Amino acid sequence: MNLPIVNMGLNRPLPVEVTDVTQPFWAGLCEGHFLVPRCRACGRLSFPPRQVCPECHQREFDWHPVSGRGKLYSATKVHSSPAIYGILSPFRVAIVDLAEGVRIVTRLLPDGRSPALDSHVELVITRHPDGYHYATRMLK
Ligand SMILES: [Zn+2]
Repeated sequence: MNLPIVNMGLNRPLPVEVTDVTQPFWAGLCEGHFLVPRCRACGRLSFPPRQVCPECHQREFDWHPVSGRGKLYSATKVHSSPAIYGILSPFRVAIVDLAEGVRIVTRLLPDGRSPALDSHVELVITRHPDGYHYATRMLK
């Protein structure tokens, strides 16, 4: 299932660091998928991508596309940020529990509403002039 794409007018605030560990994730975003590593030994899904499973410490992973659906666990509004994020300020950062049981930290796109905890949210892929990233937004 491809995630919705939201066009953003600005470049990503920070350049994306693509490594051997994260390359499949970034490649997935370009194809419309938010992929999370799934440990081949214990099956645990986790995010962000890392070299070692946080559950069993094995190092072999498959990549699992998530639905993008989740609930808002927490959110905060950032008014004062490092200069590199200044053009975005103020902005919201959210902790989202995905339906697949993975907790992620991401930007919450503004829609004029105040976010309520446990609100249903969806992941979106953000398309910037310099590439892709991701964020979440509240469902209507
Ligand atoms: Zn594991």
